[in-house]
Amino acid sequence: MMDFNYTYDLIAILLSAILIGVYSIQRPYPTSSGSIYLYLLCVTLVLGVCDLFSWTAIWLYPDNPLWLKYLVHIPCLLCYVSMNCGLYYYILYISKGDYCSFINKAFGMLVWMISAAFIITTPFTTLIVDLSVPGEIIYGPLYVWLFYLNALPIAADIYLAARYRRYLNNLQIGSTMLGVLLLFIAAYIQLSLPNEHVITVAASIVAVLAYVALEDPSDYYFKNAKCYNDKAFYQAVTKSIDSKKEKIIIFRIEGYEYISHMLDELHIRNLAGELSDFFQKIYGKYNTFCLSNDIYAAVVSKERSDPASEALSEFKGYLQIDDNKVTASLKITELDPSDFNSSSDVRHIVETVVQQHLEGDGQRVNEMTRESLAIRDNEQRILQCVRHAIKTGGFEVYYQPIYEDKTGKFASAEALIRLRDNLSNDGEFIPPSLFIPLAERNGLIVQIGEIVFESVCKFYTESKLEKLGVEYIEVNLSPVQCVQQDLTLRLQNIMRKYGIAPEHINLEITETAQSRDKHVMQRNIRTLLNRGVTFSLDDFGTGFSNIDNLASLPVSLIKFDKSLIDNAMADENSRIILNSLMTMLKCLKYKCVAEGVENLEMLEMVRGMGCDYFQGYLFSRPIPSPAYVQFLKKN
Ligand code: C2E
Ligand code: CA
Ligand code: CA
Repeated sequence: MMDFNYTYDLIAILLSAILIGVYSIQRPYPTSSGSIYLYLLCVTLVLGVCDLFSWTAIWLYPDNPLWLKYLVHIPCLLCYVSMNCGLYYYILYISKGDYCSFINKAFGMLVWMISAAFIITTPFTTLIVDLSVPGEIIYGPLYVWLFYLNALPIAADIYLAARYRRYLNNLQIGSTMLGVLLLFIAAYIQLSLPNEHVITVAASIVAVLAYVALEDPSDYYFKNAKCYNDKAFYQAVTKSIDSKKEKIIIFRIEGYEYISHMLDELHIRNLAGELSDFFQKIYGKYNTFCLSNDIYAAVVSKERSDPASEALSEFKGYLQIDDNKVTASLKITELDPSDFNSSSDVRHIVETVVQQHLEGDGQRVNEMTRESLAIRDNEQRILQCVRHAIKTGGFEVYYQPIYEDKTGKFASAEALIRLRDNLSNDGEFIPPSLFIPLAERNGLIVQIGEIVFESVCKFYTESKLEKLGVEYIEVNLSPVQCVQQDLTLRLQNIMRKYGIAPEHINLEITETAQSRDKHVMQRNIRTLLNRGVTFSLDDFGTGFSNIDNLASLPVSLIKFDKSLIDNAMADENSRIILNSLMTMLKCLKYKCVAEGVENLEMLEMVRGMGCDYFQGYLFSRPIPSPAYVQFLKKN
């Protein structure tokens, strides 16, 4: 009788039992790969137990009936092939996610079915093993081939890890390779030394490796809270896109950003714990996800009526930090996953939603749809054009003449930027109202503003506009530029470079510029004013048009927005308001400009109100610089 070494099986049983315990206790997020992993752990445990039984039944009690010996040995062999195929499916899922093809899946199944067929029929064919001699296992002619066949799915693991390495990190790739190597070595040892049942230990070590590198349940937990994280969320999203039975709600805790920088680790964790509890109580542990400290998501059944309001009505309206209550509110966005094709679409949307929430547009409860996705894509396209134009000097500056009533001359003009759509064939203009706000949002406007400013200065000097009767050019200054620390320095350098006197520049600012970094802005304006640059208040009548604001802004010109003029044309009351506004502003020694004067009727109306300057299609549309020079020469 040969020696029977229990140790390998005992180690394997112990290791896999501990892993099953540790893994289950952490309540891992239910994913496809997680379920396969749990199955693998169970198979490894059963393999160890069966191996132990099989040795005992065959060697310790050689007189056992033949059917009993096969009954304990066959499950052992089946577990071995199930483990190999299980591992193959596991690596398949972690590398290809839910995108595995039919062939991918069929391959593992085929190997398993062929192996299982030979194993199950071996009592009759003795092709794999023959147990008819008491106390002995006689290996059949196909025994080695069983190992060869099972080497295929193991080798496929290497292929998958290499092919899909960009979805895996180095630790994951390394442990997959190491695990595969271990299984090959174990199979080799077992074939050469049939009494050393090292495969069971190798399998359990592979399970430990997988736990450490791939299937650590804490990967699916948000660090600061006992709540599933974005990784789990996007898995849930992928499922709901398929099922079409759920909707997604995204919550941002407004107010968190004001206090976040004051919180230490402990408070951040406590707060995250409380917020997670709050959402989990309403939507359930498996449906609540924490995407960042102040952003949560829930995936809930569409049958639930108005689930977003449940959180809204339960939310206390403040965050408790020790004894202090900090006012906070919930911003909510609902998405229907059936509007989207993949979880990356949803990721795209979630990022947009969060951005919108942060920027303060977006309502308390709004909806994100396929259309919003298209808008976002279009915005990205426009930004691409803007970046391209910055790099290649692709912007043009047009000029719209402004008529001075007192002198009957076109004493000034507004510089207006033009950008062609360089990504489409027709190369049409992209309206500034589309690309300027986008450029403002990501700071590109600072460069754009300078490009326009430089172009204006160059044009004014080179074309000797002063001699053509142009006193100054109005240049739009974005609120973002207004609060640039080095704005004045940069503008002065450009003016110096082209030798243009600051008096020939008028900067148009808007009231929204007021609400930003007031001090920097006022300092900038004061410095430029001292140098001789003048300012005008653009789009008057569209914002808050606060008289208080006006008094604090050292502007000399007020530009009445086109909408005020249009309204005054249509409605008596609006006309009275416009008239009174103009009278008041003129008493305060401001000069007034009417924008958007399109016809003679409009001109007569604003002229009757004592308006000083007129700008609009009646006189000229914005035109390229050579055309503007021609226009000046003619008029
Ligand atoms: P804005 O500063 O209010 O510029 C006046 C807008 O009214 C221009 O639109 C002009 O073409 C248009 N307009 C002028 N007369 C008429 C008229 O009689 N009828 C009608 N319907 N429209 C008229 P544009 O060029 O499309 O510019 C839109 C906005 O883009 C500007 O509004 C301004 O806020 C911004 N913008 C344009 N160029 C620049 C720039 O260089 N820098 C910055 N920061 N913003 C710019
Ligand atoms: Ca303007
Ligand atoms: Ca305007």
